[in-house]
Amino acid sequence: MTRIVSKFGGSSVADATQFRKIKNILQGKPERKIVVVSAPGKRNPKEAKLTDLLYSVYDLAKKKLDLAEPWTLIKERYLEIVRELSLQSTIREELEALEKALLIKPNELSADFVVSRGEYLCAKIMAEFLGAKFIDAYPLIQFDSQYQITAQSYENIALALSDTDSLYVVPGFYGSDIRGELKTFTRGGSDITGGILANACDCLLYENWTDVSGLLMADPRIIQNALSINYVSYREIRELAYSGASVLHDESIYPCRAKNIPINIRNTNKPGDQGTTIGPTPEHTANIITGIAGRKDFSMLYIEKSMMNKEKGFGRKILTILEEHGVSYELSPCGIDSMNVVVDSKTLHDVETKVCAEIEHKMQPNKIKIFNNVALIATVGHGMVNQIGTAARLFNALAKEKINVRIIDQGSSEINIIVGVNERDFEKAITAIYNEFVG
Ligand code: ASP
Repeated sequence: MTRIVSKFGGSSVADATQFRKIKNILQGKPERKIVVVSAPGKRNPKEAKLTDLLYSVYDLAKKKLDLAEPWTLIKERYLEIVRELSLQSTIREELEALEKALLIKPNELSADFVVSRGEYLCAKIMAEFLGAKFIDAYPLIQFDSQYQITAQSYENIALALSDTDSLYVVPGFYGSDIRGELKTFTRGGSDITGGILANACDCLLYENWTDVSGLLMADPRIIQNALSINYVSYREIRELAYSGASVLHDESIYPCRAKNIPINIRNTNKPGDQGTTIGPTPEHTANIITGIAGRKDFSMLYIEKSMMNKEKGFGRKILTILEEHGVSYELSPCGIDSMNVVVDSKTLHDVETKVCAEIEHKMQPNKIKIFNNVALIATVGHGMVNQIGTAARLFNALAKEKINVRIIDQGSSEINIIVGVNERDFEKAITAIYNEFVG
């Protein structure tokens, strides 16, 4: 049987009620044989995620400060789940051992180890509740010295999860490094664990269960009742995620994409909704655009110099100056005698004066200016390829709203048009583009 990896995020494992929903979901499809869990998340907006509480506990322990308050919240949350599900569980003993270690020998613990216990304990409880096999990710997923997942990891996983009839539960978010130390992914990294497992076990599908029914065509805080996206390609999601749409850790896509395994984002609280599927580029698509996403907080460095186009290495030298000051660039639309470099405002802020002085000194420009408060908006869709008039429609829609477009960038792939506008026009611009293409 070809299996499905079902990964459940923090809100999906927040309490005993959510655990029961997961059991029902798994029973709905026998192919759901590999379960990955995050640490319990918030039950309401005011509550903290267990991962955040574990970071606090670790900090307090290191400073030899009183950790009773966050620790009690962590302990109570797990014990409540175990109690409500009437499990035998050894979680109480595991929690006591961790508390003791935090109090007695905090210097022997790493932050990664302590926070990883969020996923580890959750997976243990889940395995007991489901009558499944608990498989620890620590010995299976290995990071090399460049923080890349080793090829050996995939073999380890395939072997450890080789019985296709068994139900497995694996904690997300961590593995181990070359020295054998526990190592976590970046935040939200349980998604990556799911992707790696799907690849290693050649799964039919990677389901990512969360608290929304997939992706919407635009940010619902800007577009009320934005339509949902049923299907989005790996390439489109990359563009949308880069430009601010977030629902899944972007590193979780690569392992699935490598084997053309579709990713289905589903809602644990509305399991009947089909959610969004992320997969290979479709042959045909009915919609011109798939989605719109955007981000604020960019700055644009404008450099003008006569005969710039004849000066070999001009662009490279500018980018080198930025690189040497730790600023990476996002876009660089150029004119014949001018160059614009769009960068993240936060990274430029502290080094702005030095960067400008160095450019003045080394490149002798006629003019150099920084425009702050730039927002980038990406309109993404395979449907735009070879569609005459798409860009015209987009710019007309912005013009009708009297929005000044500062930056225009359309990659040669034609699946993405990025415009840069003043931040104060951000919401208005997204609304204009949405209304033009979606209505
Ligand atoms: N629990 C971790 C976090 O909050 C990892 C995850 O949930 O994916 O970032």
